[in-house]
Amino acid sequence: MMSDLALYVHIPFCASKCRYCDFLSFADRPGLINRYMEALADEISDSYDEYGDRCVSSIYIGGGTPSLIPEEDIGMIFERIRAVYDLRPDAEISIEVNPGSADSDKLAAYRSFGINRLSIGLQSANDDELARIGRIHTRSGFENTYRAARECGFDNINIDLIFSLPGQDKDIYAGTLKYVLDLKPEHISAYSMQLEEGTYLYEHSDEYEWPDEDEDRDMYHMSVRMMGEAGYDRYEISNFARPGYECRHNIVYWRGGEYLGFGIGAASYVGGSRFRNTEVIEEYLRGVRCSESTRLSEADEMSEFMFLGLRMSTGVRRSDFLDRFGKDMDEVYGHQISGCVRDGLMCDEKGTLFLTEKGFDISNYVFAKFI
Ligand code: SF4
Repeated sequence: MMSDLALYVHIPFCASKCRYCDFLSFADRPGLINRYMEALADEISDSYDEYGDRCVSSIYIGGGTPSLIPEEDIGMIFERIRAVYDLRPDAEISIEVNPGSADSDKLAAYRSFGINRLSIGLQSANDDELARIGRIHTRSGFENTYRAARECGFDNINIDLIFSLPGQDKDIYAGTLKYVLDLKPEHISAYSMQLEEGTYLYEHSDEYEWPDEDEDRDMYHMSVRMMGEAGYDRYEISNFARPGYECRHNIVYWRGGEYLGFGIGAASYVGGSRFRNTEVIEEYLRGVRCSESTRLSEADEMSEFMFLGLRMSTGVRRSDFLDRFGKDMDEVYGHQISGCVRDGLMCDEKGTLFLTEKGFDISNYVFAKFI
């Protein structure tokens, strides 16, 4: 039996470019929005021949800032998706929203399209920090959006946070965490700031004071502790949820499930192949789609299974590895596993391997062993 698909739809437009952002998004091309949405709808329709027999268990509309787009255009995307795919009745359907870009009418329209989960980008609850990283909203603007979403009936909301921001210390970040926890969202993502080449903050990094590595780890540990005390489970390195609200769409990625991506730069993984759409919007508008496609070797698939699965606190099960690859995990990775267990980076219990607290702290080092 074929497994369900997860669908990702990329909307690459923003009101302005945040100073840390290297995502595929444009703040200077609003004139292309209409044509882009049409091209996106066409790409979805065209996927019918190959994948129209598949069921869909999650949809994620990300960006960019999808909430910048008129709701009618988002509605049109859902019409196309429903025309091509059978959606599971309990499908998780998420959209990313930036504060100030979705009023009550837009949020109500989202609900009418079947969207049942919002992911709101707050990043920080401190207005000075928000300005420093080039976010165009304030904490009170965020709060208006959050409250409007609750009033519209959204009962599954994620709030995105970033820590280790320029000029940030533990106390300021604790204030952001406390503010967010008081709102009681169902899900919180908290990522450590990464300075990406080509961004404003990368180019101007020496103009700011940055938390050092120890402070970064302190802020991470504080996230885990405060969220744990408030009833949120760290189910993945940077993702925290109240029981039952883990993001099912992202779990598909971490568990090596199949997904299809639509829009520029969108990645897909289906039938053992990985492919990615062109990142050049002009090409995409002309109907060019896939720019690269790779058939993964078994070694690649096994390695991904390990390092993606280990991101999750439930880790990887030996029996799942055996079912999927017909091989014993220890035959392939026995050496790496025993080394990580010996060094206190990984636990090996009841046929399951998972990271210890020390392993979570240096997870990239652990993952590198499986590549
Ligand atoms: S809103 Fe998101 S995608 Fe857009 S510039 Fe800011 S961080 Fe990047």
